[in-house]
Amino acid sequence: ARVLDAAGTDDERVVEAALRPRRLAEFPGQPRVRDQLGLVLEAARRRGSPPDHVLLSGPPGLGKTTLAMIVAAELERPIRVTSGPAIQHAGDLAAVLSSLDEGEVLFLDEIHRMSRSAEEMLYLAMEDFRVDVIVGKGPGATAIPLELPPFTVVGATTRAGLLPAPLRDRFGFTGHLDFYDVADLVTILRRSAGLLGVEADGAGVAEVAGRSRGTPRIANRLLRRVRDWAQVHGEGVVDARAARAALALFDVDEAGLDRLDRAVLEALCRRFGGGPVGLSTLAVAVGEEADTVETVAEPYLVREGYVLRTPRGRAATAAAWRHLGLAVPRETAQ
Ligand code: ATP
Repeated sequence: ARVLDAAGTDDERVVEAALRPRRLAEFPGQPRVRDQLGLVLEAARRRGSPPDHVLLSGPPGLGKTTLAMIVAAELERPIRVTSGPAIQHAGDLAAVLSSLDEGEVLFLDEIHRMSRSAEEMLYLAMEDFRVDVIVGKGPGATAIPLELPPFTVVGATTRAGLLPAPLRDRFGFTGHLDFYDVADLVTILRRSAGLLGVEADGAGVAEVAGRSRGTPRIANRLLRRVRDWAQVHGEGVVDARAARAALALFDVDEAGLDRLDRAVLEALCRRFGGGPVGLSTLAVAVGEEADTVETVAEPYLVREGYVLRTPRGRAATAAAWRHLGLAVPRETAQ
């Protein structure tokens, strides 16, 4: 696994759970979503009824699961956790829905990956708090309506655009999570260092924050590697020296690019004169599958303005040439 992968691994679950903020007031960053969600939850609390269903969208590692847990904590209700891929049949969903307690929060991660039949059952349940349980098969099958107590769905998706409109419309509140700025990541890292029981100075956390691709999950992971370095080679303190040495060891440069990212930029600029070049040709040049280049390296390189996707292929921008310490050719896109 890459140290810069925004998706979490199974091994990380326990340490990640320990680092999650528990309440909205201690959730740094995402001020709009935080304030909007705070209002929705407070109003529901005062009315004494469940809030609208909540949809959280955005890239991996930005806090969707964390916010779902916070919704339940703020409402002081239990939370049931499942995911789209775990619900392949409408019957799987019926079993979950029919066992919910009043006011319970149902967290559906990767909601865009649910089966079509489950999706249809879900949006009826979200609207009417009812499911039709089908008994029997073929022409003799009958639908028995089952009343459900009111509950709140919190759906999370990296691809809000993939949700069918009828399902999307059942969410009264949608929060879109964006990449964090460095100042928020610094706040997150200070808090995480405290929870991990490791001393961290301002320069150390700033160094880690700047290389974390705007993603708290990556920031926390890099912090743990710097802590390791500091405990083995340093004084046990996360400072600038430890951060630089540890991140160099893991091939993470000042801009948060790793070996694969740099290999893509090197190939684009040095082998193909800045492009444009087709994805598969580029992938062969860096010795990777086209899919890996497209899904692992490219999103961040495009987002940060190092690479452009053009109809004729991938092209390096001026930032890419500069990052490699090369002179920017004339007519290069900025
Ligand atoms: P995925 O889509 O991959 O499940 P996610 O968006 O649900 O990711 P989380 O699991 O909520 O992300 O967060 C990943 C890690 O980052 C957790 O350890 C969590 O503690 C930390 N984290 C995320 N957002 C914040 C935040 N605003 N403040 C502090 N820690 C955060």
